[in-house]
Amino acid sequence: MTPKTYYIWTLGFQMNAAASEKLARELESRGLRPAGKLDQADYVVLNTCSVRAAAEAKTYGKLGELKELKRRRPEITIAVGGCMVGADHSDLARRAPYVDEFFRPIQFDRFLERVERGAAQPLPLVRPGGPVRIDLAPELKDTPFQAAIGEGCVEEPGSLARPNRPTRWVSIIHGCNRACTYCIVPLRRGREASRPIADLVDEVRGLVADGAREVTLLGQIVDRYGRDLPGRPDLSDLFDALGEIDGLWRIRFLTSHPADMTDRIVDGIAGNPKVMEHVNVPVQHGDDDMLRRMKRGYTVERYLNLIERLRGGIPGVALSTDIIVGMCGESEAEFQRTLDLLERVRFDVVHVAMYSPRPGTRAADWADDVPPTVKRERLHAVERVQERVATEINAVLLGETVEVLVEARRKGRWEGRTRTNKLVFFDHDENWLGRLARVRVAKTSPWSLQGEAVDESPLSLNNRRGLPFPAGA
Ligand code: SF4
Repeated sequence: MTPKTYYIWTLGFQMNAAASEKLARELESRGLRPAGKLDQADYVVLNTCSVRAAAEAKTYGKLGELKELKRRRPEITIAVGGCMVGADHSDLARRAPYVDEFFRPIQFDRFLERVERGAAQPLPLVRPGGPVRIDLAPELKDTPFQAAIGEGCVEEPGSLARPNRPTRWVSIIHGCNRACTYCIVPLRRGREASRPIADLVDEVRGLVADGAREVTLLGQIVDRYGRDLPGRPDLSDLFDALGEIDGLWRIRFLTSHPADMTDRIVDGIAGNPKVMEHVNVPVQHGDDDMLRRMKRGYTVERYLNLIERLRGGIPGVALSTDIIVGMCGESEAEFQRTLDLLERVRFDVVHVAMYSPRPGTRAADWADDVPPTVKRERLHAVERVQERVATEINAVLLGETVEVLVEARRKGRWEGRTRTNKLVFFDHDENWLGRLARVRVAKTSPWSLQGEAVDESPLSLNNRRGLPFPAGA
């Protein structure tokens, strides 16, 4: 019997991508195989994002395509999940009556039961944890999807589409108990729920057995991990538990909240050599009154204190942040304070988004009164400041040797990241996928580094297990 096939179209941010990967594993463990194209699949899943209006519009566009597909192939099953499916999704169901199944973020049990019921004969069981294929929305591939608003949004979603990835994403806490006035996430993803440490250790062990060398721990606010678990473990306890896993070389985490990062977590980063020296702490704005209107729960002064603690406690730490421009009533003077903050902190990376109202949020009731042209000018002003700052920060690395975990081959060059999350490219004839190269930096830009491989890190030499590399890549 020919195995049934699936296709998962994923939009949005890392937690969605991690959920898609998990769903793909569940489907493959039930004998399904990835379809080469969406219109060839027996099961089509849209894993949606509602953080930005543009992301919702893309989903409605895709649903339009699926309507036609369902007309031609009524036997297929269409499922829609992710952030666009809230507790009440009756409007979505009315607009797309040809969708067979809706599921809330990560709650795909009912869909899996449908898949099991739909199997006419027992399906061959395949080993969970094998390579899975995730297809991200093509319009997002190879783009810095940094216009996405909120926290934890993807920078390079295309990286998930590669099999044999040495880097994986693992969701450790779902939902958000905060209520930033511009953000739809708490409405769609619900209250915080942490996954027990033992489950996460099991999952990461499985990923390492499958070739992973690095995991990024994901959550809307990772610093709040464990508060709802018995014994209230925190993120640093999780670092310790995962740090024991042989073969796991690197641990990253995303996203932190300035009001939730404790000294214990800072110490946990500094004290565990497997935890990378990179922290994303979204500040969102540089003006106290605006931060209050956003309901962020900190002042600029408190944020600067945290930056000082991070830089004092974690030698060489790289910092990134998220910024929103043009939110309701943002004056020129308030916006200028955001630019001042960027000059003062000098982040390695800044993700900037123009505000757009999301129905259901508190800010959606306020006047969206900053004209689009002004929002765009402010966005470009942030980008200009950041380009200059990042140029200067990266230029310091010229001639230095950095350790790079090689994640992929792109356009004939090896690509990986430093411990501080800087993108590095180098040329070499050998297969470096999943190895730790020491690379001498020969060229810098605000966005990436280029160099030549000097040798291999001892850690990688001692633990080398070659990852199969796709032919022709
Ligand atoms: Fe949204 Fe604020 Fe929660 Fe981040 S902390 S997910 S911006 S409500």
